[in-house]
Amino acid sequence: MMLGFLLARAGLDVVVLEKHADFLRDFRGDTIHPSTLELMHELGLLDEFLKLPHQRAPQLSGRFGHLPLTLADFGHLPTRCKFIALMPQWDFLNFLAEHGRRYRGFRLMMRAEATGLIEEGSRVVGVHATSPQGDLAIRSPLVMGCDGRHSIVREKAGLVVEALGAPMDVLWFRLSRRPDDSLATGGFFLPGRIFVTLNRGDYWQCAYVIPKGSVEEVHRKGLLAFRADIVSAVPMFDDRVDEIADWDQVKLLTVAVDRLKRWYRSGLLCIGDAAHAMSPIGGVGINLAVQDAVAAANIVAEPLRAGTVGEDVLAKVQARREFPTRVTQRIQIVMQERVIRNVLAGQGELKPPLFVKLLRAFPFMRRIPARILGLGVRPEHIGTPERA
Ligand SMILES: Cc1cc2nc3c(=O)[nH]c(=O)nc-3n(C[C@H](O)[C@H](O)[C@H](O)COP(=O)(O)OP(=O)(O)OC[C@H]3O[C@@H](n4cnc5c(N)ncnc54)[C@H](O)[C@@H]3O)c2cc1C
Repeated sequence: MMLGFLLARAGLDVVVLEKHADFLRDFRGDTIHPSTLELMHELGLLDEFLKLPHQRAPQLSGRFGHLPLTLADFGHLPTRCKFIALMPQWDFLNFLAEHGRRYRGFRLMMRAEATGLIEEGSRVVGVHATSPQGDLAIRSPLVMGCDGRHSIVREKAGLVVEALGAPMDVLWFRLSRRPDDSLATGGFFLPGRIFVTLNRGDYWQCAYVIPKGSVEEVHRKGLLAFRADIVSAVPMFDDRVDEIADWDQVKLLTVAVDRLKRWYRSGLLCIGDAAHAMSPIGGVGINLAVQDAVAAANIVAEPLRAGTVGEDVLAKVQARREFPTRVTQRIQIVMQERVIRNVLAGQGELKPPLFVKLLRAFPFMRRIPARILGLGVRPEHIGTPERA
């Protein structure tokens, strides 16, 4: 959506296909990072954007074993917004769609599902799609695969995926939030489990991290044991944990970390989760996808205007965004292997790892995770002028 918006804003014709009828799905991340808010400012949309209902997280905090911990403090970032905005992704997407529609070249087709590629020789020249109006064949000088971590575009293009592995899955559910709740957005690391709480106004969006493939064991132990685990992580939830009355309220997110070896083929480029599914550590997937979109628009807009986009241009997008992807995934994998795996296997008292000791002893060090999470590696800036 961000890429479609930016290209239409740059005066190009864009068709955005979305297979669902709306964006109103629970199963999406909720974080809008300071870097994305900075892009909104560069686009002149920040004030309007911040009028949408959201919560602000100026810090991420929690507990490691019995130790209280501030994981990140965004107060020193060189950005206008020194906080993560927690906002349902559907509001963010609808906002972009609404602004995209102001440009002549923007066309968003809902319930239109890409099913295959149109190829001429070795070049991709469009997509086949299904829609309520019937089957479509949409031709384009460039197909962008932005269809997430189960991307059909990358599969049909035969792009090679490198799986990096993840030792955990996530259970995702809500608990109600009271105005006097004293909790902040953050994470709780306890022996055998990790629990994350995101302040979503009148409810807590909760993530409960479990060892990979262990959901059946969690189910076997039963809802009572699950609720007791939640309360042992956050005792405050004792008065509302029985809101979870059914496993249907607890969604499983199977975590995958992967990336494409090559993000492009002649006539086709993948970005976002389609090019690199991220670990949920740090909640950076949306941020990276948005940054990819900005970099891609900056690089392809002028060649697209000229009529053709060669593979050399697409290679530039990968070269620009592969480095931040690799660095971020590397950090996530080190965290997965050195911290998450140990915590999930942990029994008895947890031994705080070095980074926890440092963050507790030297508060200024909280600026480092804040920078990595809030801005990311190699933040992008809008480089495509508006051409109405
Ligand atoms: C439960 C959960 C919680 C998460 N929490 C966070 C978080 O807090 N912070 C964070 O930064 N990240 C989070 N993430 C990750 C984040 O949602 C993704 O990294 C991010 O959305 C990737 O953006 P994307 O545009 O590349 O892909 P997606 O957001 O997956 O978007 C792909 C879109 O393409 C559509 N689509 C798919 N196939 C087709 C097709 N064939 N034809 C047409 N349309 C198609 C899909 O319906 C979807 O709308 C979370 C993910 C999940 C599942």
